[in-house]
Amino acid sequence: MKNRRYITTPLYYVNARPHLGHAYTTIMADVVKRHYTQRGDEVVFLTGTDEHGEKIAQIAAREGKAPQQLADEVSADFKETWEKMNLSFDIFYRTTSPSHVAAVREALTLLKSKGEIEFREYEGNYCVGCERFLTDTELTADGTCADHQKKPEHRKEGNYFFLMSNYQQKLIDHLESHPESIRPDQYRGEILSFLKNEKLGDLCISRPKSRLTWGIELPFDSNFVTYVWVDALLNYLAATGWPDAQKYDEKLWNEAVHLIGKDIVKTHSVYWFSILMALGVKPPKSLNVNGYWLIGGTKMSKSLGNVVRPLDVEGTYGRETLRFYLLREMSYGNDSTFTLESFVNSVNAHLANGIGNLCSRVLTLCQKNGVTQVPAGAKLESADQALLDRRAQALQEWNAAFEELKYQNAVKSWSELVTACDLYINEQKPWALAKDPAQSGRLHTVLTVCMQVIEALGVLIYPVLPEASLKICGALGLETPDLSAVTRAEVRAFPAIAEVPKLFMRIALPAPEADSKA
Ligand SMILES: [Zn+2]
Repeated sequence: MKNRRYITTPLYYVNARPHLGHAYTTIMADVVKRHYTQRGDEVVFLTGTDEHGEKIAQIAAREGKAPQQLADEVSADFKETWEKMNLSFDIFYRTTSPSHVAAVREALTLLKSKGEIEFREYEGNYCVGCERFLTDTELTADGTCADHQKKPEHRKEGNYFFLMSNYQQKLIDHLESHPESIRPDQYRGEILSFLKNEKLGDLCISRPKSRLTWGIELPFDSNFVTYVWVDALLNYLAATGWPDAQKYDEKLWNEAVHLIGKDIVKTHSVYWFSILMALGVKPPKSLNVNGYWLIGGTKMSKSLGNVVRPLDVEGTYGRETLRFYLLREMSYGNDSTFTLESFVNSVNAHLANGIGNLCSRVLTLCQKNGVTQVPAGAKLESADQALLDRRAQALQEWNAAFEELKYQNAVKSWSELVTACDLYINEQKPWALAKDPAQSGRLHTVLTVCMQVIEALGVLIYPVLPEASLKICGALGLETPDLSAVTRAEVRAFPAIAEVPKLFMRIALPAPEADSKA
């Protein structure tokens, strides 16, 4: 039976247009989905937009729009951006959809009936940026919100609270007994330390309509709407059909892996896990947490500001260059710096000169010399076999990289196979063999072995470079990037190379004139 997997990105808040941070997490989800699909798993990939709340209402008012209009525009921008970037999401989910609104109301009704929600008067420091009351420990020494560097407003109001404090020990027990619940492990350690050292408060889940109407009305009190975080988090579960018993795909939910940035680990572990526990639903299998992309470089940083809209990078520097760079440069879980210099260098060294050059060299030689197979009776030499054996190691490293969230190693696994094949070609000198008619048999053997390795590369690059992968596979007559091409023991016969695919161009930094104009 097929393994099933459910991979989600956060639903992106429509207060901003798609940027590098959003792109990274969404690209990661796409890469992971493609990897597991190649392994034969069935993967559901969810992304979408989070559309309610005070900030959206404020931005819409400033722009003279209805909040729904703003949400529609920004949501469409996200969807189109991901489509144009060839990101293979299965569900694009919106928190203003009627089915989501119904699921949130159902969840709140259930929590209320279980005695998990209480009405209370509350007085305290309210940060508009955070859209919630802050506890004293969350304020800086001079009384401002650490995230927004603004003094919170003093507010007094009646609100509904989810009794999250009852879940402090249950959360600790869950995180301790589920080492995979938050990965990499440093983030699980941070949340455990928070839960063990600070008293967990209750969670205010409502906003009075007197100051905010852009939200989902509470099912049990029409004077209030739902706090946007509670509304948004429920998307992951609602998208699996919950709470409709007929539609709910519980087996899929049990495989849920949330890909998130490090700024939202607490909301996803503490708030979300405890809400699920209160609903009687299992917490997700894992939160996979990535670090921040910092925009660096000195004189380039200004022009980069324009270029870092993900689609613009692809428009300027070519398809798939951004995915490759992001995957190769970030050690998952830690912060990384994006500089245009390192981007250009990386693309040139590894894509244009690396795999791109190898493919074009070999396939051009095959085309010229009409090479399709190892001649009958020809034997493989030990160098041929050693190169072919190298594929198994690459596959093993590639699989391990995905299991361990060490995505850099997935890129490394096939880059090393490129290097090994380059070395083999330099030693075997097929261009010299081609000049000597007596060496024709050896020429055909060497180039067919190379084609076999390039076919394996075409398959292994698929998660990170899907378009290039399909071009390579297509040139070699392989319909899908099937893993059996990597493990195949015999060297197969290939079709005659009709056209050598163009993969990656060398790129350059923008000229100084263009820089100052930007
Ligand atoms: Zn704040």
